[in-house]
Amino acid sequence: MLSQRQLFLQHIAQTSPEPLALQIEKGEGIYLTDHDGKKYIDLISGIAVSNLGHSHPKIIQAVNQQMQKHSHLMVYGEYIQYPQVKLAEKLISLLPQTLNTVYFTNSGAEATEGVMKLAKRTTGRTQLVSFKNSYHGSTQGALSLMGSEEFKTNFRPLLPDVLLLEFNNSEQLKEISNKTAAVFVEVIQAESGIIPAKKEWLNELRKKCNETGTLLVVDEIQTGFGRTGTLFAFEDYDIIPDILLIGKAFGGGLPLAAFVSSRELMKELSHHPVLGHISTFAGNPVCCAAALAALEVFQETHLLDKINEKENLLKNFKHSSLVEVRCKGLFCCFDFKDNNLTMRIIAEAIKNGVITDWFLFNAGAMRIAPPLIITKDELKLGLEKIYESIEKVI
Ligand code: PMP
Repeated sequence: MLSQRQLFLQHIAQTSPEPLALQIEKGEGIYLTDHDGKKYIDLISGIAVSNLGHSHPKIIQAVNQQMQKHSHLMVYGEYIQYPQVKLAEKLISLLPQTLNTVYFTNSGAEATEGVMKLAKRTTGRTQLVSFKNSYHGSTQGALSLMGSEEFKTNFRPLLPDVLLLEFNNSEQLKEISNKTAAVFVEVIQAESGIIPAKKEWLNELRKKCNETGTLLVVDEIQTGFGRTGTLFAFEDYDIIPDILLIGKAFGGGLPLAAFVSSRELMKELSHHPVLGHISTFAGNPVCCAAALAALEVFQETHLLDKINEKENLLKNFKHSSLVEVRCKGLFCCFDFKDNNLTMRIIAEAIKNGVITDWFLFNAGAMRIAPPLIITKDELKLGLEKIYESIEKVI
């Protein structure tokens, strides 16, 4: 009989030559337990998803209760589904006034796709702008915006009329014009290894979009829901996006994303043509119930109260093999001097019971994004284990 590992390798389409292939039986809080009973500290949260840890009882309860009422009913937007309405109401209460209407999607990429269409539809323009090293999803539209030629080149032709500018470069903002429908930006670029936008630059970008009638789309799919120390990273920047992209931690562990904008913009999806964006499962009521529970837990438990102290623990991590540690909240990058060691250190840390990860566009760096519920002692232990793993590899 074939093992689960063999079946996984044979029947699950693989996207890398050497998948981690951890065989996880259970997730609870910050811990994952494999089929041999080995426990790992999860310092990566399924890539910034499990902000409340795994198997949160309130989320399980919300999912169970909603399943007993109903799961899928109808293609997005036709029926009034209470979990969607309650979730939208709650989310909007936490956002600036102009971000008052939600289009739910299943994934971040699907939200990016919807926004590209919305931007073209509402401005009558075709040009889209994004930045070098940005990541907005892997579907062909979202991929067209991606700031890495390596990941795009073999899938061309992609969307025409996409302009890629340098992140944090003020001079290049002059390329944005009254031909530009929308600019997509991450407030803190994740995949190049936690690179924050400069405050002044992001404000200049906001101003340029205002001057040219261009929509500013802020992608908080990875940074949202407390990851960087505030509910959304843009709160630190004195800007308000025209459209906000959210996903990952939003669903409390279930697949859910969204784009949020003003009622005036969103109504454009309902005519010329009608059904301007269609998705069968988007805003699935069970996912929305989980997301609502997650937001409630987020608020009730004051999850961000101790985040600065935890951020400092990460920031103060020192080892001679590191060039730099970059952190905002619990969104962190350990940048190693020798790029060739990173993968080995990550593998050694896993052996040592700590899960971290790498970045798509920065091969020399280690990604750390623990569940926000992690305690200081747990984080210290995780960091000790990383230190031991580095020592073992170098
Ligand atoms: N934008 C950002 C900033 C992301 O980090 C991601 C996912 N890594 C996406 C968009 C795409 O989200 P999804 O994988 O859910 O399609």
